[in-house]
Amino acid sequence: MSKHEQPARKPHYSGSLFIVSAPSGAGKSSLVKALLAEVQGVGLSISNTTRKARIGEVDGKDYHFISQTEFETIRDEDGFLEWAHVHGNYYGTSRSWVENQMAIDRDVLLEIDWQGAEQVVRKVDNVVSIFILPPSMEELEKRLRGRGTDSEEVILKRMGAAQREIEQATRFDYVILNDDFTQALLELKSIVFASRCRFNQQMARHGAQLKSIGL
Ligand code: 5GP
Repeated sequence: MSKHEQPARKPHYSGSLFIVSAPSGAGKSSLVKALLAEVQGVGLSISNTTRKARIGEVDGKDYHFISQTEFETIRDEDGFLEWAHVHGNYYGTSRSWVENQMAIDRDVLLEIDWQGAEQVVRKVDNVVSIFILPPSMEELEKRLRGRGTDSEEVILKRMGAAQREIEQATRFDYVILNDDFTQALLELKSIVFASRCRFNQQMARHGAQLKSIGL
């Protein structure tokens, strides 16, 4: 096929929007932290939440910890790209932060639950969704208890929700089984790199170069 006959491809943002979801205790945050340390050019969105900070969590770094009233004000002004009620607390992603990052062609990563993921997939074109699974329910419970940051009541609530959350994995583009951390991280990085090599992404990032070699 000559280049004149190729179907039109529409580049959108040159950055991708990655969503990483998982039940609590699957190892999502550790994997994301390692990804960000090893792969340049991915910005992590800091969510807003009405949950109280856990010991060691820092406002503005782990979350923006806000009151229910503040949350409702932002939500009512359409300031969230998505928001959800998870385990008794509200969580939401700042619309302006994500849009500003995408506008300057940065990859953005959202660590959000499946309800938020669904909303973002409906609203944004260039989404790559990834679900992290634990190797077993026993291991999930062990990891939740091992964190030592949650009360027994919270652990039981999160174990109760885990099965329903795991069922949502079927809606995601990719699934990573986090049995071995090193392997899971390799898979996560592979998804990011492969996504960056999609035709539209390459065209948006390196359009002039690709055109100079005849594309
Ligand atoms: P945690 O309280 O353990 O930090 O998070 C509980 C759940 O809320 C996790 O599944 C986490 O991914 C999700 N979550 C965190 N931030 C957001 C957000 O901005 N939006 C949505 N929908 N979920 C979030």
